[in-house]
Amino acid sequence: MLRVAVVGSGPSGCYTAQNLVQLDPTVRVDVLDRLPCPYGLVRYGVAPDHEKIKSLQGNLRTVLEHERVRFLGGVRVGVTGGVPVERLRELYHAVVYCVGAAADRRLGIPGEELPGSWSATEFVSWYSAHPDAVDAGFVRDARSAVVIGVGNVAVDVARMLARGAAELRPTDMPQQALTALAASRIREVHVMGRRGPSQARFTTKELRELAGLPETEVRVEPADLALDPACADPSALPAAQRRNVEVLRGWSDAGGRGAERSIRLRFFLRPVELLAEGGRVGAVLFERTEPDGRGGVRGTGRYETVEAQLVLRSVGYRGVPLDGLPFDEESGTVPHEAGRVLHSCFGAPGDYVAGWIKRGPTGVIGTNRPDAKETVASLLADAPALLRREVPEDPVAALRSAGIEPVEWRGWQAIERAEAALGARLGRSVVKLADWNSLLAAARSGP
Ligand code: NAP
Repeated sequence: MLRVAVVGSGPSGCYTAQNLVQLDPTVRVDVLDRLPCPYGLVRYGVAPDHEKIKSLQGNLRTVLEHERVRFLGGVRVGVTGGVPVERLRELYHAVVYCVGAAADRRLGIPGEELPGSWSATEFVSWYSAHPDAVDAGFVRDARSAVVIGVGNVAVDVARMLARGAAELRPTDMPQQALTALAASRIREVHVMGRRGPSQARFTTKELRELAGLPETEVRVEPADLALDPACADPSALPAAQRRNVEVLRGWSDAGGRGAERSIRLRFFLRPVELLAEGGRVGAVLFERTEPDGRGGVRGTGRYETVEAQLVLRSVGYRGVPLDGLPFDEESGTVPHEAGRVLHSCFGAPGDYVAGWIKRGPTGVIGTNRPDAKETVASLLADAPALLRREVPEDPVAALRSAGIEPVEWRGWQAIERAEAALGARLGRSVVKLADWNSLLAAARSGP
């Protein structure tokens, strides 16, 4: 009987476990996560107001409750103080790493480290109650915010900055973040793309949602659209980009409504420097760009400054190397062939990857399904060779003897009950626990 460890309980980890149990009638799968809570970015990345996407947790839950799947939370792998990759290889016939892309890409410009400048991930982690997040007073004393990048994360954070208390209250956002966002005095959110509207990475559904925010107007500069040849005639664009351009064109024609808050979508402006004012960020200096005819842009030597007391850098994620696994610095991924980890020397069969650590931080949640399927097909094709190795009957005993006490499914269910009870006390629905102590205390308080 094949014993597999899946490291990471986000969508790619859960789809990997699902494929394994569907295709192999005897396989046993342990899904390990460094956090005591499952679901990865579905819990800690999907915006709290995106209830429909969040409801995917129900599907992932079915996988983790399968009789041959076991959730083991609070288990770190491949990092100091955690279970070494080599040890995991001894405990399982195969290990599939579905660890995502945990770091942020950097801008590499002066002023990036100023107080008031944060990666979008830090902000998202805070309002999503990630236990490693810091409450950095993101919106305190800010009137204007700049979001750098025009992907779906940029749209998410812009939307969260513009939402009012009435809309945030029904979400599962932690109480501190709700209080801070409800008191926010940010009235202008500038979302800045370095290339043109037709090259923006957001999806049209997410883009359109911005226009539905109460007391908020969305503004697009006609001059930005005029610079992009594809905006004049979008007919040759792929459908997704064409729809984006059509929406943006509609907004640029609409003019201002004089709403309480505004989201301004700007293009052809690349960040050059974050400027300080009173010891923290006060503005961002951008260089105007223009299309270079090859899909990129070139600088024009003309500059523009945008006031901002909060800067969120939303320029994509990056994979993080794990000790004991190869890593390609350029792409921030683990080198693989159809999901099989490519070690530079022989001697470590049984390592696989799926999800963002395999293909890079692209695609939506559903993209992980075919991705996981490919990896599982490789793993099951290798099964006869993998099964030649003896592994212990129950790896949890080995983890315990190494001083690791995993949070099992009933521990997670106890966290869920504690979050429901907290919500009831606050007169809200479920409210997430936001720190390690509360999560672990709740997990260990199970019946
Ligand atoms: P992304 O889609 O890769 O977008 C990154 C943005 O940052 C791009 O506009 C990029 O511009 C810009 N950028 C990169 N380096 C830059 C620099 N040095 N200066 C200025 N701009 C720079 O990344 P993401 O928004 O983090 O999203 C990651 C993935 O998660 C995506 O696949 C996304 O669709 C997915 N996601 C989906 C949802 C949803 O479905 N609701 C929500 C959140 C995230 P260039 O194009 O010019 O490089």
